Amino acid sequence: MTIVMKPTVPEDEVMLASSRLTRGEPTVLDIAGRRVGGGDFALIAGPCTVESRDQVLDTARAVRAAGATLFRGGAYKPRTSPYAFQGLGQEGLRLLAEAKAETGLPIVTEVMDVRDLEAILEVADVLQIGARNMQNYTLLAEVGRSGCPVLIKRGLSSTLAELVLAAEYVLKEGNESVILCERGIRTFETAYRFTLDLMAIPVLREMTHLPVIVDPSHAAGRRELVLPMSLAAAAAGADGIIVEVHPTPDEAICDAAQQLAVGAFDDYAERVAGAAAVAGRTLWREAVPA
Ligand code: PEP
Ligand code: MN
Repeated sequence: MTIVMKPTVPEDEVMLASSRLTRGEPTVLDIAGRRVGGGDFALIAGPCTVESRDQVLDTARAVRAAGATLFRGGAYKPRTSPYAFQGLGQEGLRLLAEAKAETGLPIVTEVMDVRDLEAILEVADVLQIGARNMQNYTLLAEVGRSGCPVLIKRGLSSTLAELVLAAEYVLKEGNESVILCERGIRTFETAYRFTLDLMAIPVLREMTHLPVIVDPSHAAGRRELVLPMSLAAAAAGADGIIVEVHPTPDEAICDAAQQLAVGAFDDYAERVAGAAAVAGRTLWREAVPA
């Protein structure tokens, strides 16, 4: 059996910390008591960006009730245009802290700049490195040193080997809590926003022992495609999904077309849990006290 363990970069004749050869067993992360990896399926849900107190709390309550594992929401947003809304910043972090206090859901939020890291670490249980920063190596090393779990999204035009090497920047700092995320790549196809590369799931599984999740929202760009791609990702063996949800998606400040409506999330979660079961994974749900 030939397994691609090392990227085909000549100077990279080192054994990667993320390699399956380094560790045969899948890594299972403990995120504030929630397991990510192994037989557990993580459903990470929440709005693209934090907009208001009501928007964040309504979404957090709804996804919590539907069985979400973690809550996502951006306070610092990587926008293609510098004139677009850039996120609420510190105020957004404060609202995320409120959502966490009320629902108990651990928080996934993006860090773009090391100068914001200290404030973000006050609330984040997982630091998201966005697709555009996947190769920001000083940022990766710094979040590695923070010791906080890191979710790394695949760059828009990055190979899987490059994604794995980005993870190495975090692992090299002694931080073993890394989640890899396929979120769609640039191809010649223009009928949808990005091309979701589901082959990344089994291939990253061959390459690494790290949990692999999928973001169907940013790949699709429109909500009709989010459920079918989520089902496919779960059935293909993803360790989880990160999906955008909003109380009134059409009014969302960013990524309006792709966010699921809060009212549709219950049904969505059930169906994704069913597809995860096909691949032998159980949606992580909080143990109900006997
Ligand atoms: C996001 O998760 O809101 C986001 C901007 O994702 P990506 O970095 O994958 O574009
Ligand atoms: Mn978004």
